Amino acid sequence: MSMTNPKEWAEQVIKQEEIDKYLINGKDFINEETILNKLSFNHNPDKQRVRDIMQKSLAVERLEPDETAALLNVKDEDLWQEMYDTAYKVKRKVYDNRIVFFAPLYCSNLCVNNCVYCGFRKDNAEEKRRILAAEEIKAQTKYVIEEGHKRMIVVFGEHPLSDADYMVEAIKAIYNVRKKSKYGSGYGNIRRVNINAAPMAIRDLKKLWEAGIGTYQVFQETYHHKTYHDLHPSGPKSNYLWRLYALHRAMDAGIDDIAIGALFGLYDWRFEVMGLLYHTIDLEKQFGIGPHTISFPRLNPAAGSAFSNNSQYKVSDDDFKKIITVLRLSVPYTGLIITAREKADLRKDVIKVGCTQTDASTRIGIGEYGQEAEDKNSQQFILGDIRSLDTVIREFAEMGIITSFCTAGYRCGRTGDRIMGLLKNCVEGKFCKLNAVLTFKEYLNDYASKDTRKIGEELIMKEFKEIKETPFFKNHNLIEKFEEYYDRVSNGERDLFL
Ligand code: SAM
Ligand code: SF4
Repeated sequence: MSMTNPKEWAEQVIKQEEIDKYLINGKDFINEETILNKLSFNHNPDKQRVRDIMQKSLAVERLEPDETAALLNVKDEDLWQEMYDTAYKVKRKVYDNRIVFFAPLYCSNLCVNNCVYCGFRKDNAEEKRRILAAEEIKAQTKYVIEEGHKRMIVVFGEHPLSDADYMVEAIKAIYNVRKKSKYGSGYGNIRRVNINAAPMAIRDLKKLWEAGIGTYQVFQETYHHKTYHDLHPSGPKSNYLWRLYALHRAMDAGIDDIAIGALFGLYDWRFEVMGLLYHTIDLEKQFGIGPHTISFPRLNPAAGSAFSNNSQYKVSDDDFKKIITVLRLSVPYTGLIITAREKADLRKDVIKVGCTQTDASTRIGIGEYGQEAEDKNSQQFILGDIRSLDTVIREFAEMGIITSFCTAGYRCGRTGDRIMGLLKNCVEGKFCKLNAVLTFKEYLNDYASKDTRKIGEELIMKEFKEIKETPFFKNHNLIEKFEEYYDRVSNGERDLFL
């Protein structure tokens, strides 16, 4: 059997035994009746109960489904304001004033599936299909490095030509690129390659793990069974359970850094938030750790998809902010990712209620980094914010938010259950503060414009003052080493971390 025949290949993707082993009493963890009951029993929660729940979030404890359902049911706008403020406090407590940047790299838009909302779907005849060869991936990586990025999320359609072996080649190609920095005598490289790809069998996931994958990310899109079936009419993706347990399999393959998400706008947003929480709880139950990050992309218009313009469940900007707030309060120690799908002003506003990662200088067309303008017929959907990394970093620095390119946690074993423990105890937040300053300094020296450098240096001075006044750093004798590293980075050494 030829494995490059897409139809034959698609038919052998799903391994039923790699679904069944995770079911409990033959059932998956999304019980729709329970979710709907919880949402209706916890309607109109009184103020005191909501405040008690927020205290639990402030103590960096994950909420229970009833508590999250109560938050989702708050109607009083003043109480929402309290929730926004508390979400901000939780974020500061666990992640401080940091934001981490990454760049997506779309390697292929060949796809055997037919998701009705996506420009890459198989039956979209207008889509120009393309898959990057290793040399092209390296060339694209150079453009991304030239912007100053250190992390990538690499994205693929599901197709035999972009199978796990292709992904392994892509990961290797990216890690191998080194490029002289724009200014000074430093160099840039990608230090962490994350993957957003279709669910795979454990055997294939092990290959990604061996190639040095950072985070493996799969979005369930919608947790509502019927909606899922309606929107994914054919291909392996039409199997809800194969997707639902994609990250369980990743854990079994040794990838303990995993990321979940839902595509908001396909079904009722309150239901989806509950779905994300149940997903987190099941991973915690079965493996002792939950997801490293949660994503909540909103449906954007996609060329060749009428549905993407007309869904009745489209989420308003106000509700979007509520989604992020409830997630921040429900899983205080989990990273939250907001992407350039969203417009600049909204991004700026919601970043405050708890996002920890974002992208900039983003191109989502295949091979579009380095091109003048994006071609809407080779991209998956239309972006909301196309500003450069330098511009967005400057805007955040003006807000007192420091950009971190730190990838140290991953490389000194602060991943999986270790990082979760450290985050829950707010210790990772501290290490990251030091590494954020070191990597921000690298960026300012190597890639920043004059204006960004000026504002960035001022922010670093403030951070220095805070670091010196924080007992944790003194008590752990970290200040001297940090100052030494800072001087070495200022003098051109790269990739130093604590
Ligand atoms: N093909 C793989 C899959 O579907 O899991 C991975 C890549 S897919 C290109 C990445 C994500 O893009 C999907 O999981 C979906 O949530 C999101 N997406 C698809 N269509 C979108 C749209 N019109 N607007 C916003 N996000 C979209
Ligand atoms: Fe293919 Fe993923 Fe797009 Fe679905 S969302 S059509 S699987 S690329």
